[in-house]
Parts: sequence; structure tokens; C-alpha cells
Amino acid sequence: MSATPPLSQVPAVGNNVQIPAEMLDQSKSALTPLLGASLTQLTEWVQQQGQPAYRGRQLHGWIYQKGARSFGDITVFPKQWRETVADVPIGRSTLHYRSEAPDGTVKYLLRMADGQIIETVGIPTSKRLTVCVSSQVGCPMACDFCATGKGGFTRNLKRHEIVDQVLTVQEDFGQRVSNVVFMGMGEPLLNLEAVVEAVQSINQDVGIGVRSLTISTVGIAGRIRQLAEHQLQITFAVSLHASNQALREQLIPSAKRYPLEALLDECREYVQLTGRRVTFEYILLAGLNDLPEHAVELAGHLRGFQTHVNLIPYNPISEVDYQRPSPRRIQDFVDVLQQHHIAVSVRRSRGLEKDAACGQLRASKSLV
Ligand code: SF4
Repeated sequence: MSATPPLSQVPAVGNNVQIPAEMLDQSKSALTPLLGASLTQLTEWVQQQGQPAYRGRQLHGWIYQKGARSFGDITVFPKQWRETVADVPIGRSTLHYRSEAPDGTVKYLLRMADGQIIETVGIPTSKRLTVCVSSQVGCPMACDFCATGKGGFTRNLKRHEIVDQVLTVQEDFGQRVSNVVFMGMGEPLLNLEAVVEAVQSINQDVGIGVRSLTISTVGIAGRIRQLAEHQLQITFAVSLHASNQALREQLIPSAKRYPLEALLDECREYVQLTGRRVTFEYILLAGLNDLPEHAVELAGHLRGFQTHVNLIPYNPISEVDYQRPSPRRIQDFVDVLQQHHIAVSVRRSRGLEKDAACGQLRASKSLV
């Protein structure tokens, strides 16, 4: 949507509105939604429509601050022009289901334009409002402990479908989102282009500091380097979940093609290329990877890394019989890492009471 095409290339749609060719999603011959476009891109677009440049800023404000869902909502625009561009989609989802836990955590099932349903979570604390966004419909990684992985993969999300999740939570809570984590459904590095574009839009258009955005991956060979080349000042997290290769293969099938040492080497490269540290995430599964010897083994792998380990006590799901470790066992794991001078935190479970694990709500509503 950045360059202005000659008029001869501009297809006519709807009420004879002329849409630049690059606004067409070629795969589906559908209009590309405006959500996710920058101020510059929106300004170019309104000018292509014969409107003055200042309408670009108005459009940007109505999309990102005022929650416009269609041109009909944008009452500052002339009625005749609104009718002309009525077919151009803004790109907002519709709410399919909302579930609020006693601790204030809200889970949403959002319906995309093609009818696909994804999960998004809003997590409030006294100082923050964090959104856990999905990057794919389902997930192909099939991690053994994950409800989303059990449901299979449907498709990648598009830029606007990711940005929409942040706006949806912001509007529902009536307060600004402070943090966004790519830890919902899907493996973000398998949808890198849309994820990077969404990160840029969430930062520049929605206005959330880039360091408050976290991309989390289980590791895709070569993609960590590609992410580093974008030089985003995001927080980057890698889900190790195991202290050795055999255990990792048991939990994450794709690990067979991406040995732990190769993953750690690519993480070191990420640190070199970006000057940013890597956070390692480790899901604690009772009796499987939560013993003191696992902590010692993990510490050995992370020696020399400027890092932080985030321990995630498991939220049980009905599909598998992994269990959450006891608080004593969790503390023992923490103690061993700290004895090895590794910074460590334990993620507090939010919304544990109801369908708390990733993919569980969608599964419980028979949507997979
Ligand atoms: S844990 Fe993440 S990467 Fe693994 S199957 Fe679930 S959503 Fe996919």
C-alpha cells in the first residue's frame, strides 16, 4: 500500500470505489483491511481516493484510538465518501465468547472474517494490562503438553488479525494495554512476516513501547537469526522446557530436527546481532523435568549466557496427564538455578480456574 499505482491498475469494487492493487489480498482477491497500516500508508491511501492528506490522520485516529469498525462509524468523513468506501474493510474481529476468571483475567474467542476462531487473553495487574495474542489459527508444532498443539493447524493470522487482538482487549478493559506477549495460539516464527509487521504497528500505531512486546518461540531453525536481522528492540523468549535433548524431543516433536545445542547457538547469535538478551522459558511438569538434577543440567547449558529463566508451573489439561509440581518442588528448582547465579522468576498462574492453558477454551467450545 506504499506506492501509488497508475489508475489503469486500480480495480473497481463495491460502489465504484477505486482500490490500489497492493490493497488486494491476491490469494483471495479480497480487499486488504486497513488495520495495521501506518499513518503514512493511510495518508497515501486517502489521497489516492481524492481526499485531502489530513483525512489520513483522522482515519488513523479513528482506527487506532476510537475503535472504528467500518467507515460508517467515522462520522467526521463526508457522508458521500463514507458510502463510496463502505466496502473497504477496517479489519476488526467479532466477539464469539468471553470468559472472566475471578482474578480478572479475561479470555476471548474472536471470530475472524473467514469464520475462524482464535483465543486472546487479557491479564490485568495493579500496574499493567498484558495481552497474550495468537499468531496462528491452531499450531503445527504439536507440543505434547499443549491444548492448542492437540487441535492441529489451520492457517497463519494476518497482520490486522494480530493488531485487532490488542485493540479488542484495550477496548473491553477501557484502559491502555501496557504489554503484549506472543504466547497465545501458534508459533510466531512460522508467521514471521505478519508478526514483524504487527509488532511495528502495535508499537507505532497503537503506541505500546517496543520493549514491552515479547515474542516467544519454541525454536525454528534459522528463524531466530531472521528475527534478529529485523533489529526489533523487543523482548525475546525461547521456550526450552527441557534440560536435555531427549526430554525436549519428548515434549516438542520438532526438536528432533533442531538439536538443543543448535538452538542455543542461534540464541547466542541473536544476542550478538541485537545486543539484547534472551529469556528462557521452562514449563515445569511434575516428576518429568522438575527435579534438582534437571535444574543443574539447565544451568550448565546456560553458563555464560546473559539471561533470565522464567519458570512456568504447568496448568493441567484433560487431554494429557502431565501434572503441576508442588510449591516445594518449584522452590527447589529455583534454589538450584540461583545457586548457579541464574536470574529466575516463577510465572504466577492467571485464570487458572477456567480453561487457563493456551488452547483450552477454544477446545472446550468444540472449535477444534
Ligand atoms: S506450546 Fe506453543 S508452539 Fe507448542 S503447540 Fe502450543 S501453541 Fe504451538
